[in-house]
Amino acid sequence: MKELSRLVVCTLSLLIAPILAAREIALTFDDAPTPDSALMTGQERTKRLIDALVAAKVPDTLFFVKADYINSDTQKRLEHYAAAGFHLANHSYSHKSASELGTLDYPSDVYKAHLLLKPLKNFLPYHRFPYLHYGKDVAAITSLQQSLTELGYKDGYVTIDNFDWYISSLLTKAAEEKKTINYDRARKFYVEMLYESIEFYDEIAKKSLGRSPQHVMLLHENDAAVLFVGDLIAHLRSKGWKIISPQQAYQDPIARNFPNVAFHKQGRVAAIANSKGIPESELRHASENTEYIDKAFAKAGVYVDL
Ligand SMILES: [Zn+2]
Repeated sequence: MKELSRLVVCTLSLLIAPILAAREIALTFDDAPTPDSALMTGQERTKRLIDALVAAKVPDTLFFVKADYINSDTQKRLEHYAAAGFHLANHSYSHKSASELGTLDYPSDVYKAHLLLKPLKNFLPYHRFPYLHYGKDVAAITSLQQSLTELGYKDGYVTIDNFDWYISSLLTKAAEEKKTINYDRARKFYVEMLYESIEFYDEIAKKSLGRSPQHVMLLHENDAAVLFVGDLIAHLRSKGWKIISPQQAYQDPIARNFPNVAFHKQGRVAAIANSKGIPESELRHASENTEYIDKAFAKAGVYVDL
């Protein structure tokens, strides 16, 4: 009897282990190569981000390129990412909303980016919609998916949405206004807020899929990432998360589960949850809101009064 119960416990733990132990996440960076800011030049940004990712032993990342930012100088930055072993992907040419451009003009915009990207080393045919706007309704979404497949692209979906771009914009704005920033507090704020969004979407996944999938996190090639991504990675690892490559994450079965809903702007996990009846209002983290961040940022004492 004892043997039998031991066997049952053993079998159960084997079944449950992959569900509980998954906690795997890939990092992706949108809008590369971003322009100079008050905190650093674009060139510095690329160099420091590569240094941070290499120091953190990140196996790979995808940089989703906004192709109209490419010129002879910025192309060198993309080449540096590729030379460091990271990969490049398509984030459209003009970064306009597919819901506004529509089913004829949006694929043309993506193709224009494709022509600039395809000669670059380490380019992979993944595409991500600006603002995660997949189309204005289900019919447009279906049509755009078909056009992108015909162009040879896979969907570069995310599962973890957040407002990292807004935190970064507050930091660069503060630097423009010559405000003094307490970087330790800013770091803590960035890490905690992004980590909360990861756990939030992972909980939604566990509820709607019954498991934790291999996640894809949306970040941007911005100053906040340069300053704090190493700390975010260290925090993730301290909580049992493993950093994987985006190519590995896109092997997860959710890559083949494109839900037939209009709601895609909070990422794939939220879209799947929505297709299973969970309302949109429950699928967006409170911090995905500029007013919320403004208040929380001030409360955290990120700005130092002179
Ligand atoms: Zn973007």
